[in-house]
Amino acid sequence: MEIRTRFAPSPTGYMHIGNLRTALYEYLIAKSQGGKFILRIEDTDQERLVDGAVDVIYNTMRMTGLKHDEGPDVGGDYGPYVQSERMGMYMDYAKQLVEKGEAYYCFCTKERLESLKESNAEGAAFAKYDRHCLHLSQDDVQKNLDAGMPFVIRQKMPDTGTTTFHDVVYGEITVNNDELDDQILMKADGFPTYNFANVVDDHLMHITHVVRGSEYLSSTPKYNLLYQAFGWEAPTYVHLPAVMRDAQHKLSKRHGDKSFEDLVNEGFLVEAIVNYIALLGWSPADNREIFSLKELEETFDMSGLSKSPSIFDIKKLTWMNGEYIKAMDFDKYYALAEPRLKAALPNTTLDLKKIAALLQKRLETLNDIPRLVDFFQTLPDYSTELYTHKKMKTNDEIALSSLLAAIPVLEGLTEWTEHSIHESMMELVGTLGMKNGQLLWPIRTALSGEPTSPGGAIELADILGKEESLRRLRIGVEKLQK
Ligand code: GLU
Repeated sequence: MEIRTRFAPSPTGYMHIGNLRTALYEYLIAKSQGGKFILRIEDTDQERLVDGAVDVIYNTMRMTGLKHDEGPDVGGDYGPYVQSERMGMYMDYAKQLVEKGEAYYCFCTKERLESLKESNAEGAAFAKYDRHCLHLSQDDVQKNLDAGMPFVIRQKMPDTGTTTFHDVVYGEITVNNDELDDQILMKADGFPTYNFANVVDDHLMHITHVVRGSEYLSSTPKYNLLYQAFGWEAPTYVHLPAVMRDAQHKLSKRHGDKSFEDLVNEGFLVEAIVNYIALLGWSPADNREIFSLKELEETFDMSGLSKSPSIFDIKKLTWMNGEYIKAMDFDKYYALAEPRLKAALPNTTLDLKKIAALLQKRLETLNDIPRLVDFFQTLPDYSTELYTHKKMKTNDEIALSSLLAAIPVLEGLTEWTEHSIHESMMELVGTLGMKNGQLLWPIRTALSGEPTSPGGAIELADILGKEESLRRLRIGVEKLQK
């Protein structure tokens, strides 16, 4: 049997991390077994519709490489793949259930249903429907329909016994049937409820594995009963625990947690985000952590899914992101770094590639770039305390004599390259009988005006050029002479 999974996002305008993880697992479940991954847009909740929200979904799929085999934009044999375009087909399915005695027309008014809630002994917001219309005779039903009375169609739940289903992550789940409400399948406006549409859609699209958040776990017995009522084979259920912000709270965009786009805008690499979220609820057989999407496709196995909720740890993602940046092919990295360097260093003649190369080993996110390169543009007004460094064995006095000795040597260089600067400074260290750090630390400090910098004295001097380097060294001397 071919494995078929589907990602069924509602277009909300952003990609929640939990949803992206669902999409990733669906993709991996299919691809690890040579199956198909389908995209279905669930846009029937008109109130939640946002302009451009569907594009967010397509963009995310494209950026992450979660390529769908079927979907609204690529077509397929089981379309339409946009739920709002499927609206005409559900009534017939609901009527089939009515004929089988698995569903029934309900003509109860809003007022009656409201009063049911009120008369509910516990005063709970939710009261089971009292099945008032279940016992209408066929004639009465027909009369009401002929009179054009508004109606809904409800699923008839079994009165006794239990419903059991198996979930790949949560194991066997059993509920008492008498706890199940006769839920509405078709609404008075003629549209299906989500609970009905998703079952019909999944069946018609031949979905073999339904992967979704654990918030759907409590509805699954009803879905399962619908499959049974139709005489359809139920899919394999894979419910995923929530992704948490901390031990108590789910990740929530509304409460300020970041979406996929937010993370990308903050300088995280798409590959690192995908790698990181793969591990939010799944672990490989060994302790390996770094996986490309391709490697995940080869390694992923549903037995590694866990039912304990995982906490989204931005520190861990940041670490992983740094590892990805370090390991990246330089040209690919430079393509991402260049716009940020240009924005941080406008109108510069400095060699941005050299700066980028210095940064590659030190970046955790691409957005660290401006902060780390600012000093190339403008020398900050720094305190001479920076010249004192215990490990480098320097203090103000040593720094001053080092800078005074270095300036004429550097002035005399006819060729300004990393090599020539390095040679001349090493020679000077020998002449002065100092430690390398005692000469180089003060130079690095004077060139950057920062306590730390990407690159040491030689690299910074090379990038800044002769004139600017000497200007900065002289400023250093002035500061130290005050
Ligand atoms: N449209 C639903 C959501 O975004 C999908 C749930 C499902 O996967 O069935 O939550």
